[in-house]
Order: sequence, then C-alpha cells, then structure tokens
Amino acid sequence: MKTRIYKISEDISEGEYDYIKEAADVIRKGGLVAFPTETVYGLGGNALNPESSKLIYGAKGRPSDNPLIVHISDFNEIYQLVRELPDIAGILAEKFWPGPLTMILKKSGIVPYETTGGLDTVAVRLPDNPVALALIKEAGVPIAAPSANRSGKPSPTTAQHVYEDLSGNIDIILDGGSVQIGIESTIIDLTGNVPAILRPGYINQNMLDSILGDVVRDPAIDNKVEGDIKPKAPGMMYRHYAPEGELTIVEGDISAVTDKINELIRLYDENTVGVITTTENRRRYNYGTVVCIGSRNDEITIAHNLYAVLRDMDKCKIKHIFIEGFSNEGLGDAIMNRIIKAAGHRILKV
Ligand code: AMP
Ligand code: MG
Repeated sequence: MKTRIYKISEDISEGEYDYIKEAADVIRKGGLVAFPTETVYGLGGNALNPESSKLIYGAKGRPSDNPLIVHISDFNEIYQLVRELPDIAGILAEKFWPGPLTMILKKSGIVPYETTGGLDTVAVRLPDNPVALALIKEAGVPIAAPSANRSGKPSPTTAQHVYEDLSGNIDIILDGGSVQIGIESTIIDLTGNVPAILRPGYINQNMLDSILGDVVRDPAIDNKVEGDIKPKAPGMMYRHYAPEGELTIVEGDISAVTDKINELIRLYDENTVGVITTTENRRRYNYGTVVCIGSRNDEITIAHNLYAVLRDMDKCKIKHIFIEGFSNEGLGDAIMNRIIKAAGHRILKV
C-alpha cells in the first residue's frame, strides 16, 4: 500500500478540508489514518469496528491485550460508549476537555473487545487539535487511536516520525506539523471507588487533586513491572518509548552528574556514545554525540523535544546514551516516567 501524506494547517483551508473528507472516508471504510493531536500523533481507525482495531494492532506490531484510546469530537458522543457516566467525568470534561486527559469508564455494548484489549472498560478522550476534531466529526464515528509509532519505539511528535515507522502499512498521514505537548495524555481511571491516575501526563496530580479532592496514583506507575504487580493500564507493562541504544539516566547533584557522565562516555568509542543534556550543561561535554533537549527550567520544551531527541540518537546509531535526570515536579513527573521506561529502569544515582 502507498501511504498518502497531506499537509494540513491549523486553520484548515477549504482545499485542505478535502483531505479531511478523504481521510474520514478511509476511516468509515475500515482503513487507517494517522493524525496529529496535541499530545502525540495518533493512528486512527473506526473504534466501533473490530476489524479496524485489529488492523491498528497489526500496523503497530502491538500486543492485542494493550487497549486503544477512543477519541471523540464532542462530549455528547461519550454516552454511546459507556454503560454509566459518573458525575466526576462531567466535571473533569468541563475543566480539561478538549485536552490531554483520558478517562477510563465502563464500556457499553457497542464498543468491541478488540478495541479495549478484552477489557470491560473503555478509555475516552476529547483531543485539543483542530485537525483531529475535524477528522472525528467528519468520520461520524469515534476513532480508536494509539500513538502512531511501531510498538515499543518513542511516540511520534511529527508526521515524519509516523512515516518512518508506518509508511506502506497505513492509508493516510495527515501532517499537521510538530505537536504541541509531545508526551501522551494523562490517564485517570473512574471505575473504582477513588479516581486513580494510571499514567502521568501534562494534567498532573495537583491539577486533578484541586478538582477532585482525592486522587490516588496506581502503584504500578513507579515500579518496574515484574512479579505480582500488575498495572491497571496494560500499556505500562511493555518496554516503551525506547530508543535502539541502551539509555541510562544519571541522577543527583548536577555537577556530580556531569562528572559521572563524562567519566562513563569515555569508556566507549566516540562514534557510538551520546549524551542528552540541557542548555545549562551543554558546554561541559565534548565527546560523542551531544544533544541538547532544552533548558532545565523549561519543562514544556523538554517534554516537547524528548521523543524527537531519542529518535535522533537512533539516526546517529548511538549504542550507549546517557541522560541527565530531571525534577519530578509538575510536568517533570510525566517526563521522568517516560524517560525511566525508555531506560528500562536503568538509573545511576551519584
Ligand atoms: P497509547 O494510545 O499508545 O498512548 O496507549 C494507550 C494506553 O491507554 C494503553 O497502553 C493502556 O495502558 C491505556 N488504556 C487504554 N484503555 C484502557 C483501559 N480500558 N483500561 C486501562 N488502561 C487503558
Ligand atoms: Mg503508545
């Protein structure tokens, strides 16, 4: 299959809207379309068609017990997808939708188990991106969309990333440029007694606490998943977001961190080793491939650049990558969560 790529601007001109129509038609007929959201690019198919969901798993090479997030374009579209809608879902939607928050709810009969990875719950999100919203609206069906990368690789934040991973396996890529946030949505489970965060994201625990009072954090978020700890979000089990090279996080007092990284990188051939650093420390390294992710004080930029930087390391064929640790505050929680998973929990404290 030849993948068609269409550039679409945020204000969607009349001519560009023809591409949305073509893509919506593909979705309705059971095909796959990658599209931008404010978090990362999604790989979309008709959420109500089990065959579309199977195609998504196939294209991504994703284990089929790892459920998909269902995207809607208007709050009212949620009613058909769920068996019951707790009041807090409305409250959260009012505050954070459209936006980077995914809610887990009890699924209705029309949502196929192929879409939910066999679960009786469904993940729903109303994204904040004009191209995504136009596509869902025009398709007239909810769109199941996991991140549009090959399973296990860093999520795509540009159409080029999607093309590298999925070209030839999907019908259309809608190219809306570089995404705004750059890491996946926060996932909150509303099916238990107390709302529980299953995956940290741009909407952080403080923001949720301030609305809901009390939110718990699924212990599996912070653990290496092995033995008897099973995460409620099945996706958290898999090696994720990872570059080809071996990533190691070095954490601690920042000058000790840079000293340690400088010591470690010299153990390797200069062509095979890389450092992901910050504006503040850029000049402290002069060996191997050194990439700056942004300023330490600017978490928005760090989140935005993270996956692209990991992919850059792969392009340079770097086998050993070292990254400085970041603070866990605010958005830092989601950033560190992704980096720790990408590193397979390889953390060196100095
Ligand atoms: P992705 O779209 O690639 O960000 O992956 C979506 C993630 O959402 C999955 O890996 C799951 O961890 C999570 N998820 C989706 N549906 C459910 C559900 N019904 N219950 C718990 N987690 C879910
Ligand atoms: Mg993903």
